[in-house]
Amino acid sequence: MIPYGRHLISDDDIRAVTDVLRSDWLTTGPKIKEFENLFAETVAARFAVAVSSGTAALHAAMFTIGIKPGDEVIVPSMTFAATANCIVYQGGKPVFADVNPDTLLLDPAAVETKITSATKALITVDYAGQPGNYEALHHIAREHGIFLVADACHSLGAEYNGHKVGSLAHMSTFSFHPVKHITTGEGGMITTDSEKAAHTLRKFRNHGINNEHQQRGDSWYYEMVELGYNYRLSDIQCALGISQLPKNTDWLLKRQKIAARYDEAFDTLPGISPLKRLVNVKHAYHLYVVRLNASILKQSRKIIFQKLRQNGIGVNVHYIPVHLHPFYRKKFGTSPGDCPVAEQAYEEIISLPIFPGLQEIEQEEVIAQIIKITGED
Ligand SMILES: *Cc1c(COP(=O)(O)O)cnc(C)c1O
Repeated sequence: MIPYGRHLISDDDIRAVTDVLRSDWLTTGPKIKEFENLFAETVAARFAVAVSSGTAALHAAMFTIGIKPGDEVIVPSMTFAATANCIVYQGGKPVFADVNPDTLLLDPAAVETKITSATKALITVDYAGQPGNYEALHHIAREHGIFLVADACHSLGAEYNGHKVGSLAHMSTFSFHPVKHITTGEGGMITTDSEKAAHTLRKFRNHGINNEHQQRGDSWYYEMVELGYNYRLSDIQCALGISQLPKNTDWLLKRQKIAARYDEAFDTLPGISPLKRLVNVKHAYHLYVVRLNASILKQSRKIIFQKLRQNGIGVNVHYIPVHLHPFYRKKFGTSPGDCPVAEQAYEEIISLPIFPGLQEIEQEEVIAQIIKITGED
């Protein structure tokens, strides 16, 4: 099976990890700062704080902006559940806004209609690796005095109007799960230009303790001043991240090349429509998503999906709109019809294999199978 996404590990990554295993520090050692500094520099942010997953990064961001019971946070429904779950961890209420039908990015006009006196923040998702409309979203955030947080788990290396993702919101969150741009096994990062936010994020990932052991010198004393978690990333994982991160420049070129080949192959097939690309962005292509045009194709998305899987093409669907999950229906009373654009898109989308290690011959096999299977009755 050719998967939709896959990590790429080489001997130097393995060496970086085994070097740490032979060292004095497996966690809370020097590799954390080194990874954070390299990451901050890479995305042009002042601060980066490493945590144990992309989900932990989102949770830490919601804690840091002070989300609490009674607060509302606007999120797109076309995303992974973690984007909304982080609000619920803090006792807040996710308010689902619809997406643009061409890009599946959060629609600023839909956001406007969801603002209430309880709205504290909005989380935008750079769906598939394409940066959202930061200009319009910043405008809304400023106008209403709310925070803009970016779930950038799809978009490491992307740019918006020449500015790097990671430097475009009050806080931006990243994931290092193996299907993402770089991996640490599990892992995450929050970037921010706010020194105060960075300080709170560091406390939150370490139980709410107000100093780190390196700062204590000859003293044992520390205070737990907030209720935090153990969301630390180990030195073993950070070493892998340090080794992986510089490779992403080259990997993005590979992703773009794969996307361009798909674009070319599907250009003459009216039943298959790639999502729209914006002109003012550099796309990071975490996903390559196409819509299957039901009025042209003679089979359902479900049948096409199953046939592709049976023929070794590991397609996937990103995502089931979050407001349709039973948890959200039960707890927050969401229902079909809340986000009609996301719901319609969900019926039509599939994600095709795209990752730096995908071989040309494999991609040609994916294309050949898609042309064959979508052409069947
Ligand atoms: C992967 C992902 C997350 C969660 O990241 P984990 O590291 O798996 O916890 C959150 N949001 C989006 C959009 C993601 O793709």
